[in-house]
Amino acid sequence: MATLQEVLAARTREAAPELVEALDRGRLRCYACGHQCPIPDGAVGVCKVRFNEAGTLRVPWGYVGGVQCDPVEKKPFFHAYPGALAYSFGMLGCDLHCSYCQNWVTSQALRDPHAVAPPRDTTPASLVQDALRQGAKIVVSTYNEPLITSEWAVAIFKEAREQGLVTGFVSNGNGTTRVLEYLRPHIDLYKVDLKSFDDHHYRELGGRLQPILDTIQWLHREGVWVEIVTLLIAGFNDSEAELRGLTQFLASVSSDIPWHVTAFHQDYKMLDPANTTAAMLLRAAEIGREAGLRFVYAGNIPGRVGQLEHTHCPTCGERVISRYGYLIEEYRLTPDGACPACATMIPGRWSASFEGQRTAVPFLPHDRTRFRVI
Ligand code: SF4
Repeated sequence: MATLQEVLAARTREAAPELVEALDRGRLRCYACGHQCPIPDGAVGVCKVRFNEAGTLRVPWGYVGGVQCDPVEKKPFFHAYPGALAYSFGMLGCDLHCSYCQNWVTSQALRDPHAVAPPRDTTPASLVQDALRQGAKIVVSTYNEPLITSEWAVAIFKEAREQGLVTGFVSNGNGTTRVLEYLRPHIDLYKVDLKSFDDHHYRELGGRLQPILDTIQWLHREGVWVEIVTLLIAGFNDSEAELRGLTQFLASVSSDIPWHVTAFHQDYKMLDPANTTAAMLLRAAEIGREAGLRFVYAGNIPGRVGQLEHTHCPTCGERVISRYGYLIEEYRLTPDGACPACATMIPGRWSASFEGQRTAVPFLPHDRTRFRVI
């Protein structure tokens, strides 16, 4: 029986020329993520899904590991089309190996024999048609690390844009200038997981801090709508010094960037730290506010974090969007995205009016036979 790696190796195509460079002795450098692997002939990169086959960089193509319809608030994007449905797709594999990963069935499929998510063959057109049938406004590459499967995401985003859909990444942010420039013409929204502000912690996860910081700065400078998430884990990233450093960095990029500090729950291989409490989130949020961030949210514990699920006008304090978990309870922005009380513009990507909430809970597409498997 073929291994999962062999199954996936058959579902590849040549890398985008922007994301590869020939080196000496038959090696190729991949630029799809911050590792920038120099890959010898016959070898795979750190992500295990991009590989050098006789001087050609082969990359994932033509399948999904999972598809789900999520409220956009789950991604989470709080300043982009509240209430919209985000049609979320993922492939397999990741360039990091976080022990607390909450998407480990897809992200660690190539590293962990217990993480089995068989690929389903499909096409960009079929996925986008399915997204339209479900009533999605946004198509999001998520579940695995989308940077390492950028060519496939761009093919879907091109098709999605032609159909009037918005596009986004939910990513660890371990990018390079080359991959971000490759994505830029096709992407509207980008969520970065800023997991820590300590390079040693990032190395424990298999990465480095600096490429993530560079990605955040680049995205903001280039006008991509960015929101940041930090999963708060006791004893890992919750020291006052680390949270102050992290939030001061974000505020130095822009005080308008929404920061979501979310609750850890025991998962995958990280079973030691206690689950994050509401009090821990509130303390971290306070640090974020003191750093100058104007939009700080606390997630994963609905109804227990006071005002931190809602959006308030940073000028007059008026509540402009009320939420409970992923549910939009009230939407009061003006058609141009301003506070109804004082006319301060609220940064984000807004529709001219609230278009209703498609769903407040994630769901698998209802009729899976309509999702064309080829
Ligand atoms: S995507 Fe990242 S980990 Fe994978 S081969 Fe390219 S540089 Fe290496």
